[in-house]
Amino acid sequence: MSGSVLIDKLRDALPSDRIATGASEVAALTRDQSWLSPSLADARKQRLSAEGAQLGLQAAVAPRSIDELAAAVSVAALERTPITLRGAGTSNFGLIDPSAGGLLFDLRNLAGDVVAGDGFVRSPASAILGDLERAARSHGAEVPILTTTYATATVGGWIAGGHVGLGSSTNGAVWDGIVRAATLMTVEESPRLLKLSAKAAEPLFHTFGVAGILVEVELATPRQRSWVEVVGSFPSFDHASAFTTEISRDARFVHRVVAAQEAAASQGLRVLADIIGTGASVLAILDDEQFDDAHQIATRHGGRLVRWQPWALEEPSRPSIAALVYGHRMYWVKRMYPDAAFLHIYPDPHDPDHDLRALKQRFGDALLIENKYIRSPWMVRALGFDGAETLPATVAAIRADPGIGALIAHCDEAGIAYQNPHTHSIEENGLFGDVSRIVALKAETDPFNLIHRGRLASARTRA
Ligand SMILES: Cc1cc2nc3c(=O)[nH]c(=O)nc-3n(C[C@H](O)[C@H](O)[C@H](O)COP(=O)(O)OP(=O)(O)OC[C@H]3O[C@@H](n4cnc5c(N)ncnc54)[C@H](O)[C@@H]3O)c2cc1C
Repeated sequence: MSGSVLIDKLRDALPSDRIATGASEVAALTRDQSWLSPSLADARKQRLSAEGAQLGLQAAVAPRSIDELAAAVSVAALERTPITLRGAGTSNFGLIDPSAGGLLFDLRNLAGDVVAGDGFVRSPASAILGDLERAARSHGAEVPILTTTYATATVGGWIAGGHVGLGSSTNGAVWDGIVRAATLMTVEESPRLLKLSAKAAEPLFHTFGVAGILVEVELATPRQRSWVEVVGSFPSFDHASAFTTEISRDARFVHRVVAAQEAAASQGLRVLADIIGTGASVLAILDDEQFDDAHQIATRHGGRLVRWQPWALEEPSRPSIAALVYGHRMYWVKRMYPDAAFLHIYPDPHDPDHDLRALKQRFGDALLIENKYIRSPWMVRALGFDGAETLPATVAAIRADPGIGALIAHCDEAGIAYQNPHTHSIEENGLFGDVSRIVALKAETDPFNLIHRGRLASARTRA
């Protein structure tokens, strides 16, 4: 259908200020953090020069209520118009690139309150994760996993686009009992709301929005801890790594993150230089009650731990460790090596040091590794490591020479598991060997295959 007829129908269905058609306004809404991937940045540049700033989009729609969302979805379904979903645009895997033109749905403005109760926090999918943490804390609880973008990212965007974060070293990943329930809107002429239990909602997790539009989310909330940000200095990466492995595998310890960094990488942590010196480092957020026990273990591994500051949701007085770990590690590594690309590598839990050492031997200084763990039974199973309790989860940074292609080829040859953040194809992601449940949910919630068309290659399309 012609763009102007589609826009007219949208204007009939929605207040006019919910619809943007201006090229620069629409183009700005397709920007996220995918510049962190050199290959995605190149691909986007090529598309922009071939297709223009709007990347084929006819308009962007920003509904403010469930009724407005339903009205816009109904127009798109009737006209069989492709849809791209976006939250806050903090993701970095090309996830809000429109793959088939049509409409972009900006889902940041859905109205609704963040409500916390005993053991849960519930909110519209548009709510900012930090606001869920604030609400949970007022009930003596906390969000089990916080993406490090928690100050700006939406909870819907994290569930659909992210999977781990602060807390994963204790509570696992998005599939590990973090989400108690989720409500979806189907993409049909008469859109329906489907409330899904945790198990039924699983195909929505980290599948980039393909399986439906999240409108409400309920997270489980464990009891609140008093977290302290900690910096560790160690004579070598082996020492830092051994400490990290011990404290991560010992189930008595709870932490939001423990991540060992090589000495070369640690030099990029300029704000911590006085503590780290010239050696390797560990960045951690620990339960303050366990600091002394953790410090003893660090001493046994030749290092020392220093309390940096209490972790706080509100703006802390010093730069936060939370802004140096998980996804935020990419920023300071990129400052050191602007040409770096990243790969999520999962060494064999039974002997992670073997895989990490082999990678360093092969790539030397062109590869910067970290050592951290997540306690994710779901990911352990998905990656075929049955029997392990903790999963080593390294985000490796590789320089342009030899490049990300060489690292991926090496992992393939050596049988090292990884997750590829340079593609938004579900089948190529590395975590979804069997996509049948994702395909089945999408067939029910998006029968015309309008959301993110092409991202789930096996999706079924009703005529
Ligand atoms: C510096 C940095 C640090 C990061 N740290 C982490 C981290 O610690 N852990 C982690 O998991 N990720 C991390 N990420 C990735 C990203 O920030 C998170 O995934 C984030 O939670 C995405 O939320 P968002 O609101 O910005 O979503 P967007 O980027 O707007 O969208 C992400 C995906 O979700 C889909 N989506 C958005 N809203 C909805 C909805 N309502 N219904 C269905 N689908 C929807 C979009 O289509 C897209 O596929 C990081 C990224 C950067 C750049």
